[in-house]
Amino acid sequence: MVLGAGFGGLELSAMLAEELGDRIEVTVIDRGDAFSFGYSKLDMMFRGASLDSVGLPYATIAKPGVTVLKEEITAIDPEARTVTTDRGSHQADVLVIALGADFDFDATPGLAEYGTEFYSFAGAAAAAGPIADFNSGHAVIGVCGAPFKCPPAPSECALMLSDELTRRGVRDRCEITFVMPLGSPVPPSPETSAALMAEFDSRGITFVGGKRPARLEPGKVALDDGTELPFDLFLGVPKHRAPAVVIESGMTEDGFVTVDSATLKTKYEDVYAVGDVATAGVPKAGVFAEGAAKVVARELIAEIRGEPVPEPYDGRGSCYIEFGEDRIARVDIDFLSGPEKTGEFNPPSLALRDEKDEFGASRKARWFGL
Ligand SMILES: Cc1cc2nc3c(=O)[nH]c(=O)nc-3n(C[C@H](O)[C@H](O)[C@H](O)COP(=O)(O)OP(=O)(O)OC[C@H]3O[C@@H](n4cnc5c(N)ncnc54)[C@H](O)[C@@H]3O)c2cc1C
Repeated sequence: MVLGAGFGGLELSAMLAEELGDRIEVTVIDRGDAFSFGYSKLDMMFRGASLDSVGLPYATIAKPGVTVLKEEITAIDPEARTVTTDRGSHQADVLVIALGADFDFDATPGLAEYGTEFYSFAGAAAAAGPIADFNSGHAVIGVCGAPFKCPPAPSECALMLSDELTRRGVRDRCEITFVMPLGSPVPPSPETSAALMAEFDSRGITFVGGKRPARLEPGKVALDDGTELPFDLFLGVPKHRAPAVVIESGMTEDGFVTVDSATLKTKYEDVYAVGDVATAGVPKAGVFAEGAAKVVARELIAEIRGEPVPEPYDGRGSCYIEFGEDRIARVDIDFLSGPEKTGEFNPPSLALRDEKDEFGASRKARWFGL
């Protein structure tokens, strides 16, 4: 039983169906009707995409052995491996938690009232209006806590906002400040951080690292060191935590589910956690959720076939980064296979845009048959 049909849940169920067909029953539960790539949020904010246009409907999934249920999960008992939903209860032999990360708005008073968050699909859709109306004044992009999904995404937002204002001929009437708790835009890759800082410099974007927005009031944000910044537009990344149903299940420590990084096993028998919901020693991003899901799938397949235990999770994944002006860069992250965390930078180019498009198209075909 797979809880959540995001990057992790979709890859896990696709791989089990591919390898084992209807030899096993895979039930995937998600409250949504459709999956969308996280990066579609930027397309909704800056490229006029609608939520409907970026959604891939779960109804199109037709894989042997796989059933997708549209239900809201309301309780999880990891000891008994039972799951309660708004429709009833389910018993699993093996349970995989892939419910992603949720937001803790209470951690940043005033964010919900006076700011605009762009990390949920509803938030990104709602942010498009204030961005289109912003023609002068101070825009602050603020990350309210770490860890957060897709560490380069707020940098992408800053660059895309600057380009959008330039396109509209109002850039010189606007200031952009980007505040984040990390000391540099992408800490595991100094080269990526340097390239982003150079782009910020060339566009006049002020980067404030090592600080986080602590509280918002109308038109003003207080940072955790007491500094105050005025704003006319606040584009925020709320502090993250596991969904409430996971926290209430007692599986979390410091907001997320602790797992063995090598195997993605939790401390409960036959219960795994993959992706943003887990603390696996890797960044919170779709490619890592997908990589972790592959490891769990290999473990389950090996167990069923009586084969040797597969290789541990290597924590490798490539993230595409919008550098503005339609150019894309790529950072190849390796967090677990060697003695150090590394991030190799591939400079921005138009060719990498085609590669990112192919990344999306290949998942669409593999997971949805579209
Ligand atoms: C602006 C932005 C840009 C990004 N760009 C990239 C990128 O370029 N590359 C990349 O790899 N990642 C990117 N990401 C990050 C990526 O979207 C996430 O890290 C990824 O989706 C995590 O996958 P997951 O499977 O852990 O969880 P999710 O994909 O979040 O899936 C979790 C699922 O659980 C379901 N769910 C949650 N609670 C319940 C419940 N109670 N009952 C039923 N269902 C429930 C949800 O409906 C959801 O479908 C980006 C994120 C943002 C915000």
